[in-house]
Amino acid sequence: MYDLMIIGAGPAGITASVYAARKRINTVVITGDVGGQAAWSGDIENYTGYQFITGPDLTNKFEEHMEQYKLPIKLHEMIDDLAREGDRIVARTRNGSYSAKAAIIATGKLSRELGVPGEKEFKNKGVSYCATCDGPVFAGKDVAVIGGGNSALDAALQLIRIGRKVYLINIAGSLTGDPIMREKVEGAPNVTVMNKTKVTAVLGDKFVSGITVCPVNGGREEACLAPTTVNVQGVFVEIGLVPSSGFVRGVRKNDRGEIMVNARNETDVPGIFAAGDVTDVVEKQIIIAAGEGSKACLSAFKYLSRLK
Ligand SMILES: Cc1cc2nc3c(=O)[nH]c(=O)nc-3n(C[C@H](O)[C@H](O)[C@H](O)COP(=O)(O)OP(=O)(O)OC[C@H]3O[C@@H](n4cnc5c(N)ncnc54)[C@H](O)[C@@H]3O)c2cc1C
Repeated sequence: MYDLMIIGAGPAGITASVYAARKRINTVVITGDVGGQAAWSGDIENYTGYQFITGPDLTNKFEEHMEQYKLPIKLHEMIDDLAREGDRIVARTRNGSYSAKAAIIATGKLSRELGVPGEKEFKNKGVSYCATCDGPVFAGKDVAVIGGGNSALDAALQLIRIGRKVYLINIAGSLTGDPIMREKVEGAPNVTVMNKTKVTAVLGDKFVSGITVCPVNGGREEACLAPTTVNVQGVFVEIGLVPSSGFVRGVRKNDRGEIMVNARNETDVPGIFAAGDVTDVVEKQIIIAAGEGSKACLSAFKYLSRLK
């Protein structure tokens, strides 16, 4: 049994783990990946100390910082269930279980899925949720980005430099992201923006070969009996994110599924702390998640000290 388990290794979990190592807490880190959403970001211009850094480069620096302390890290392990059981917190994965006196949940957000036929079948065979990670595979190819907010614009801006043609498929009447990003995307010669358009299926054989789309007008889908096909080899789904909190039992969440924490990152269950995008903290940013991760660890340290 560990004293502390940290679930997730995005900016919040990594920062919590650095603090835990420096406090000499007997800690295990259990995570699906290292970097989280920060690794998906193309250009980061608002992390203090770096006027500009790419998401993957910042993630490498975070990872190096964490690894110097040699904490046990269980990578590619997704927690399916976590709850307080008696005097311990128990987390279960497909491969087994972990228990600790305290836990910090720093599982951030995961991509929302389109929910159309073909999406699951072609995941990693042309359907992607991360332009930074998978964009280079589509060099010289035609791709579609689904969405109209900042994430979709960020993906489109990365892909117009790599792909041949980029279709931006947006269900709303206009793009909603930051004006600077919108201008860059709309001004690119190889982008076609399709507003008021909904994806109805992903097509392909072994890999993606296209999508079908339907016009959407005033909430009503028209002409869906005759959907149009857009031929693309890649589909980047950028329609938002949902908190990765479904596996947490018995802890208070708000109506968006975010774990509710107080200013000390305590949840309503003793010994369970949470930090970063998975919580109801206002604003979701790398620097905020990192700061929340440090606060959560300092609170967990005080909690563990009181137990002793
Ligand atoms: C495209 C994009 C661009 C962005 N650009 C910027 C920017 O320029 N500047 C900025 O400040 N912010 C930016 N953000 C926001 C920023 O990335 C997030 O606010 C930040 O990464 C949140 O950190 P986090 O640690 O809370 O969660 P995340 O980064 O989401 O990390 C969550 C971690 O938990 C793991 N995990 C999830 N579920 C489980 C589970 N069940 N079991 C085990 N592990 C699990 C994941 O594998 C991951 O390691 C951007 C986000 C996106 C999507």
